[in-house]
Amino acid sequence: MQKIQNFINGEYVDPAEGQYIDNIEPGTGKVFAQIPNSTQEDLDQAVEAAKEAFSVWSAMSVDKRSKIMHKLADLIEKNLDDYALMESRDNGKPLWLAKAVDIPRASTNFRFYASAIVNFSSEAQVSEGFMVNYTRRAPIGIVGCISPWNLPLYLFSWKIAPALAMGNCVIAKPSELTPMTAFLLGKLANEAGMPPGVLNILHGEGKGIGQAIVEHEATKAISFTGGTTTGKIVGATAAQQFKKVSLELGGKNPNIIFADCDLDEAVKTSVKSSFTNQGEICLCGSRILIEESIYDEFKKRFLEECKKIIVGDPMDAKSIMGALVSSDHLDKVDSYVKLAQEEGGTILHGGKRIDKEGFYYEPTVIEALDANCRTNQEEIFGPVVTLNPFKTEEDAINIANSTRYGLSCTIWTTDLKRAHRVSHAVQSGIIWVNCWLVRDLRTPFGGMKDSGIGREGGNDALRFFSEPQNVCIKL
Ligand code: NAP
Repeated sequence: MQKIQNFINGEYVDPAEGQYIDNIEPGTGKVFAQIPNSTQEDLDQAVEAAKEAFSVWSAMSVDKRSKIMHKLADLIEKNLDDYALMESRDNGKPLWLAKAVDIPRASTNFRFYASAIVNFSSEAQVSEGFMVNYTRRAPIGIVGCISPWNLPLYLFSWKIAPALAMGNCVIAKPSELTPMTAFLLGKLANEAGMPPGVLNILHGEGKGIGQAIVEHEATKAISFTGGTTTGKIVGATAAQQFKKVSLELGGKNPNIIFADCDLDEAVKTSVKSSFTNQGEICLCGSRILIEESIYDEFKKRFLEECKKIIVGDPMDAKSIMGALVSSDHLDKVDSYVKLAQEEGGTILHGGKRIDKEGFYYEPTVIEALDANCRTNQEEIFGPVVTLNPFKTEEDAINIANSTRYGLSCTIWTTDLKRAHRVSHAVQSGIIWVNCWLVRDLRTPFGGMKDSGIGREGGNDALRFFSEPQNVCIKL
């Protein structure tokens, strides 16, 4: 069985205390690797390495940093098959999905920020005849990047790429459930010519090494993606030392279907936005709100499409859905389906575990629930959606805004004015009209309300990972 290691100062090393955690393959339910359960001593080594590397990396020309990151992107592309296989075995997602989305997007993240840093410019303000101000944006130093399990390398790279591009040194921790592609990345960072100590990757438990990274006085900024409950702890811990913090958290995203929509498109895309990656994407729509006059027709067509979803072995090209990430997560999803029934919901499709080794669950559709019940308010983060009729545009907006979350929303309508009006009324950081999951990486990404603070993407991420210094010169 493979035993993976931490990546510190450009080398793969065993954890200082020699403790390991089992890593389970969701598709089989069996142990597939062991990962370090890192401790303070590992973190201290990573901090020393990062401190040493910072003077080299931050002083390196932007062109040179950019070339190294482009090379890293090339290498990920070259290793696409190996990475996709590892991601699929680690997470339970279908191999085709890891190959088509997760790994290509990880290399795009490095490529995007390798280019963005070359084009990044500081601001200057001229008060004619009086003074000139310019803003220098310096790297912060050592930053902590903590990512979740659902899109492992995609979200890991989405954080570390802008941090590195800006000239920071990184101490990063992937989820203990999905460490494998982050583990592989160290080797490619070396091959790309990244100096030792610039990127350090520690594995282990969130409440252990994750918390230690946030607490360490050397990490000056924390970029965190994960659940809202954990985000609260991370935010509170970072606040003790006035650290910069970016929190990308959970969602309970509405998908609003107006009667004037292109119904074929709305049905087809809503099935994808409900069940892609087993519903384990923070941007999946989990509450489908449907205008009353087309409710029955939408429901009929949506259920027909759901019947076509094949759940199976992630390695099988026919599987549209693979396995959920862990046995605990499977229990959580199942408990919400039971709760929905207790709350008066009717299961229209699915609603059960699949009886085979591994953590498989049927795509599940529920109706007849109150908008304020727990099933419609709490994040399930699995293949479970609810269908909810609404009467008027105002009703739809009120239901959409009724949760503590505000990550994303999808609106289906052919009325241009309505598209703008509803987009502006919905409390959501990301709004898609007649589409889903389409991204331009230059746009700010993040949620409102309990879905997080700060924005990732484009220059927002470069600004987050830099310290602005205003220089004023009197004319
Ligand atoms: P999680 O349990 O909050 O964990 C996220 C990361 O934080 C993991 O690496 C975890 O390590 C670590 N962690 C846990 N406790 C910590 C602590 N006290 N201090 C520092 N780090 C700690 O979330 P998850 O279950 O992995 O991911 C699912 C959640 O992420 C969902 O709520 C989903 O909506 C959200 N998400 C949001 C976005 C977005 O962009 N808004 C994107 C993807 C996912 P361990 O895994 O080792 O516990």
